[in-house]
Amino acid sequence: MMKNAILELTKIVQGVALIDSPADQVKKIVSSISQTIGADVCSLYRLNDAKDMVLLASHGLASDKNITIPAGKGLVGVVAQSRHSLNIADAANHPDYFYVEETQEEAFSSFCGVPLVKQGRVIGVLVVQSRSAEQLSAESEAFLVTLASQLALIVGDIPLVTILDDSINHRVIGVRGAPGIGIGVAKFCDAGSLSRASDEGCNDPEAVIIEWRNLLIKVQAEIGAEKSALGTQLSESVSGIFDAYQLLLSDQSLIDRVEGEIRAGHGLAYSLKISIQYFCDLFRAMDDPYLKARYEDIQHLGNKLFNVWSGAKVNAAPAVPITEPVVLVGAQVSVSDIASIPAKYLAGVVCYEGARLSHTAVLSNAIGIPAVMGVGTLKKLHANDQLVVDGNEGQIIQRPSEAVVAEFRRLIVKEKSLSLQLKELRDLPAMTTDGQTVRLLTNTGLLADITPGLKSGAEGIGLYRTEIPFMVRESFPTEDEQVQVYRKVFAAYPGRPVYMRTLDIGGDKQLPYFPITGEENPALGWRGIRFSLDNVQLLMTQVRAMIRAADGKDNLHVLLPMVCSTDEVTLFSVLLDDACAQLISEGMEVSRPKMGVMIEVPAAISMLPFWQDKIDFISIGSNDLSQYLLAMDRNNARVSKRYDHVHPAVIHEIFRIVQSASTVGLPVSVCGEMAADPVAVILLIGMGVRSLSLSSAKLPKIKWMIRALSVDQARRVLSKALTYDDVERIRQLGNKTLISIGLEELAH
Ligand code: PEP
Ligand code: MG
Repeated sequence: MMKNAILELTKIVQGVALIDSPADQVKKIVSSISQTIGADVCSLYRLNDAKDMVLLASHGLASDKNITIPAGKGLVGVVAQSRHSLNIADAANHPDYFYVEETQEEAFSSFCGVPLVKQGRVIGVLVVQSRSAEQLSAESEAFLVTLASQLALIVGDIPLVTILDDSINHRVIGVRGAPGIGIGVAKFCDAGSLSRASDEGCNDPEAVIIEWRNLLIKVQAEIGAEKSALGTQLSESVSGIFDAYQLLLSDQSLIDRVEGEIRAGHGLAYSLKISIQYFCDLFRAMDDPYLKARYEDIQHLGNKLFNVWSGAKVNAAPAVPITEPVVLVGAQVSVSDIASIPAKYLAGVVCYEGARLSHTAVLSNAIGIPAVMGVGTLKKLHANDQLVVDGNEGQIIQRPSEAVVAEFRRLIVKEKSLSLQLKELRDLPAMTTDGQTVRLLTNTGLLADITPGLKSGAEGIGLYRTEIPFMVRESFPTEDEQVQVYRKVFAAYPGRPVYMRTLDIGGDKQLPYFPITGEENPALGWRGIRFSLDNVQLLMTQVRAMIRAADGKDNLHVLLPMVCSTDEVTLFSVLLDDACAQLISEGMEVSRPKMGVMIEVPAAISMLPFWQDKIDFISIGSNDLSQYLLAMDRNNARVSKRYDHVHPAVIHEIFRIVQSASTVGLPVSVCGEMAADPVAVILLIGMGVRSLSLSSAKLPKIKWMIRALSVDQARRVLSKALTYDDVERIRQLGNKTLISIGLEELAH
């Protein structure tokens, strides 16, 4: 019997999670369970589209191939329908017993089945059977029930076909790195060489230090050449990656650390290895996801230095000339790896590790290559295997069948023609078919990348998230440093509206040098304007920097995050007056910026009429507003299917905000993700919203949709949606509308 159920349970769940093939995962599940509880048989069934139960894997039955129990039949059907476990000693005498000859299960007397439930629905059944005619012990049954709820999370999302046959169409889910679909053969990037460096020792430290310094110069030159190889059209963020590499190479702390190791008697490669490891660990330990992701850059750089030093030239022109589209695959794919493949043959990038914010993802986005990150080690992938990279869904398909390739090729053609169509819209207004224009602005701040918005036709910046320039540093930026960053934003959008939000940290956004800890509920804690008003010196510095950067022009709009009380508005207004007065007395030309608040805390909805004369505009932050109205963490994958900004409650509240703002004469914009969701935008236009701010990548599609829609239609959809109490019905209604105006590509 089990010694420690929790330990056994953890062992099974963790062991399964480490396996990348779904077929092997289910085999491991059944064998581990039967071993742990000492049962003769353990079988795992999954519901298919026809509601039959398909046997995925079994340990102990004579066969587990092609076995399906028809819907509602057998003891498995009883468990699925009743949604609770069935634990009996004599299965064959149960009235619902259903015998499947191939399994030869007549040898087993007892039966215990527990349902696998995911998001309220039974998706499968876990069964254990034994020869002895004894019920399973209560302890083992409880163990199975607990385990089943964990396993449902693991096996619930995997399509049946990939479990039943993983030799083809083997799908692996990762994280979306860059959108688009690419098909090519796998080419592995060998970037792990530094880890193999051994210590050869060093007799003449001074000579090795000179060798080290020469190496730095050489690699600096190579990185410069790689940057030019990618062309002159690099966006700021992409050149920034190469610049960051150059910066790291000239970083005194790296240079000194390596020199210190050399002086301590280690060889150059080994000194480099331990120094790079030191910096990687430093970044990996950071909480902020952006900074955490930087450890990859350091690792790439370490490998590059090592490869050049050892003459391996892994990233130099490939030995075999590339003549067909390739997908670069590796633990990490470095910027140098990408630069080494001729653009026309680079079909995609797949990383075992890495997140959405890693530089590999940023670069792939910028050069338009689909990328999927965080897929885990792909043990069953071989060099030159065909691979589909679906950056839109964050998945890859290994060894796709012809039919699957044909389907993805069809999607590629469709996407291409759509993006050509969208490009033509860049300079056209976002005007509805009945002549109403909608102002489309862009959200930025992430990676300080401001140019894509201009390219996609944004009329200004509707949300500049200032926390990002604060995050990528080691201390609070000074006023002058902030002025420099903000000036770039104004310079890119001369004469156009720029809505700059004051620092919005706390909750899920932390500064590495000012961690806010010890809060039981960070989402409800010291964040946004609450933090800033308590640190008024930081707020004053930031506001002064914004006004200085605006240079006397009137396009600056200051936006306050997380406001819920009048005193926050009035305190800030006084501070804004002070900042203006200070700068005027310092001889500067100043135009008092307009000030407004994000409506993202539900309390702000009722407060809005009180702020009529205190603010100049509002911007609806639908991300946080939905999170707080629904009491659902916007970053929690377990509730992500339920978190939806077109939930009836959210729609009703947003309509209330828009009506209330119109009554008191305050201009409204929407800057949360809702502004990028076609179904939600129909509803917003129906409500009377005429200003949206969204990511530049999504802007063209929204403009396309607005140009195909009439306000009249939008109003009709809204009034129907307001009568629905079910988010699904609202989505269906929106999708039907999209199809009816000829935009089925936008309907999901
Ligand atoms: C929002 O909450 O909707 C919003 C736009 O702000 P952020 O996503 O930065 O919290
Ligand atoms: Mg917010």
